[in-house]
Amino acid sequence: MTDQRYPWHASTWQRLQQSRQRRHHALLLRGKQGIGKLDFANTLAQALLCQTPDQAGYACGHCVSCSWFLQHSHPDYRLLTPEQELPDATDSAPATKKPVRKSSQISVAQIRELAGFLELSSHQQDGVRIVVIHPADALNQTSANALLKMLEEPPGDVMFILVTSHPQRLLPTIMSRCQQLEMPAPSEQEALAWLGQQGVEQGDYWLAYSGGSPLNAADLAHAGNERVQLIATRLAQGHRLDPFTSAGEFSAIGMEEVMTALQKWLYDLLAVSLNAAVRYHVRDIAALQALSKRVDLSMLLAFQRQVDDARRSANHPLNNELQLEHLLLQYSKLFSS
Ligand SMILES: [Zn+2]
Repeated sequence: MTDQRYPWHASTWQRLQQSRQRRHHALLLRGKQGIGKLDFANTLAQALLCQTPDQAGYACGHCVSCSWFLQHSHPDYRLLTPEQELPDATDSAPATKKPVRKSSQISVAQIRELAGFLELSSHQQDGVRIVVIHPADALNQTSANALLKMLEEPPGDVMFILVTSHPQRLLPTIMSRCQQLEMPAPSEQEALAWLGQQGVEQGDYWLAYSGGSPLNAADLAHAGNERVQLIATRLAQGHRLDPFTSAGEFSAIGMEEVMTALQKWLYDLLAVSLNAAVRYHVRDIAALQALSKRVDLSMLLAFQRQVDDARRSANHPLNNELQLEHLLLQYSKLFSS
């Protein structure tokens, strides 16, 4: 995969290039979810590591450094994300290696592992080393404090790039160590034009469904159409929905996606019931209108709160299907037959 550049970040890139004389040891990219902040961070990382960047400051894409980078094997680059939780450092024998666990946090062990990386020097002459942390709000108290020590005395050739959609969740002391860069979101027009270039049909539907995020819209349009449609079709059944069959279908899709879809559906159902505009399901307006004639409004409001609560525990692995059956049964009872 080559670097991902988005037109709505072009001016930010230019400004950053112009200010390059003041080398930043830590950069914090902040902005709306789903607009390409991590891609920007990686484009920047590849460019800083590149041996022959072009005039605009972008990576050449074919030097040794670029080929390492594109093969995800650059020795001077580290990406810290919650998914990459490392096995216990003392437990190095492959046979006893614990499975890599998916976590919602960046652990202190991950930050400590970075210390070894920081002690080395760059593999390229006069080169830099880059650490990308995404999402930076996944740092917990302990790992944030460990990182803070590194940010206070970073080796001269190391640059940290922190990426977050929730800067308010970061420690103020971390924030103050970083040069902050507000990443702009695209206008609706820019987003639609970009989606068109990606071959997305019904771009306006997908952009609305994704709450304005062009990247999520493209992902869903390319890979999620059937899932999104299945959920909407089932929910449109109202009192005729079979909670047990649907819970099975939905749990195969995944709790996170289903709960988000359900929240969006309830949001739109409430909007239609109150004669307000549909926000996400612009192609299901007729179905929502039919449902709104049968729905008990106060029950709908109570159910919405309940789903919000359930959403907060959606990563809980136990009894997903049971939880869905329960929710869908209640959902079907919101409507008169
Ligand atoms: Zn290059």
